[in-house]
Amino acid sequence: MPEKEPVRVRIAPSPTGFLHLGTIRTALFNYLFAKKEDGVFIIRIEDTDTQRSLPVYEEGILSGLKKLNITWDEGPDVGGPYGPYRQSERTEIYQKYIKQLLDEKKAYWCFCSKEDLEEEKKAMLSQGLFPKYGGTCRRLTPEQVAAKKEAGQNAVIRLMVPTGVTIEFDDMIRGSISVNSDTIGDIVIAKNESAPLYNFAVVVDDELMKITHVIRGEDHISNTPKQMLIAGALGFSRPHYAHLPLILSPDRSKLSKRNLETSFDEYLKDGYLPQAIVNFLGLLGWHPDDDQEIISIEEMIRKFSLRRVQKAGAIFAMDKLDWFNEQYIKTMPLEALIATLDPFVPLHWKENPQRLAAAVNITRERMKKLSEFQELAVLFFERGDYPGSLLSWHDADSKKTKTLLETARGALADIPSDAFVQKNLEEKIMPLADQIGRGDLLWPLRTALSGQKNSPGPFEIMSVLGKDESLGRIDRAIEKCSAGFDR
Ligand code: GLU
Repeated sequence: MPEKEPVRVRIAPSPTGFLHLGTIRTALFNYLFAKKEDGVFIIRIEDTDTQRSLPVYEEGILSGLKKLNITWDEGPDVGGPYGPYRQSERTEIYQKYIKQLLDEKKAYWCFCSKEDLEEEKKAMLSQGLFPKYGGTCRRLTPEQVAAKKEAGQNAVIRLMVPTGVTIEFDDMIRGSISVNSDTIGDIVIAKNESAPLYNFAVVVDDELMKITHVIRGEDHISNTPKQMLIAGALGFSRPHYAHLPLILSPDRSKLSKRNLETSFDEYLKDGYLPQAIVNFLGLLGWHPDDDQEIISIEEMIRKFSLRRVQKAGAIFAMDKLDWFNEQYIKTMPLEALIATLDPFVPLHWKENPQRLAAAVNITRERMKKLSEFQELAVLFFERGDYPGSLLSWHDADSKKTKTLLETARGALADIPSDAFVQKNLEEKIMPLADQIGRGDLLWPLRTALSGQKNSPGPFEIMSVLGKDESLGRIDRAIEKCSAGFDR
């Protein structure tokens, strides 16, 4: 029995913009499939558009994928046996195959102008025909071609596409797809011998890089029959195809440009964790048979199968991404969370690592994104100003509020600094609060400590601040009471 061919998959991003979530999803599904099948995952850079391709974008795509732990076996940075892995470095290879098609008369030079083509299209449409290139230049003799070239006429190279044939393929996600060649017409494959277009370059690269499965976005379905025709003309084998469902917004419309084009770096700056993004994107069009939601990349590999990828559009819901992020923030080991939060922490907060750890531990419960940390935790590091009236519970006057705060302070002063922990604080204060009235005592105490209308509870805050700072803040609140509330 012949050995099963080793799986080889690729992504072919164009470095014409920053890494965005659509590319990451395609990369992830390719990566999962490669890992699951013990195969090879390749990155090939499609930089034939020299005007728009920039090294900084390539660098951003590669470094972004690395941050997500999506790693590749062959690519422009790591090399491999079938390089180069940048299309701009493969011109000679394409030249050879374009020449082959021209020599074999499977492709021809076309000199039709834009205007000619427009005219032709209009005429076909008016006759109710499917608009396609009519093949005018197919009939040019080599002498005519030479003369037109000599005269410097603009040209492209077209593939001769047979008429009336059905091109059929079995998409691993979408099932059987067939197209009549008459709806395609003679495809433009290159601008000249050394300037191939996407459909041509992709076919040559996929063949030479021994790609077994092409897994990419559904927007490429219409390119597939064209690529199959080109592969057929070149005598190449054809890979398996799997087209991933479109990414849609929650109302099932096309995803907005904003979401689609927001770069991965923006998500990181906003405080989304790479693990959460991977988890979210992994479930964008696929889910494991046990419907597990929180799932690591390793588990995804174990459970992944292309057959379980859905045909229907995958809904991109921002609140779902927030939910994943929240879950990862809540459950990640504290040390790791502190390290990940580092870029979001003001420098001077880091001078007190113990307080920082305690603040992180408390705020993680309410943090959807790391960028919220500063606002949630500022009360632990800075005494913000607030109006004295904030201390008043149910319109209690400043005198009464002051007495209550003094009562609380007196009780707290008895607790030694090294025993200033939540449990001890509660044991000391709660019996008093029950006696006096919970709101009456706890509201002024909490607002004195936080300076905020909404905040974590007083015991949590005090356990982070420690004794000196807690009493200091209560003293300041008492002073505010002495000065009277400004109403
Ligand atoms: N450059 C194309 C894209 O990023 C590649 C498509 C393909 O995988 O063939 O959409």
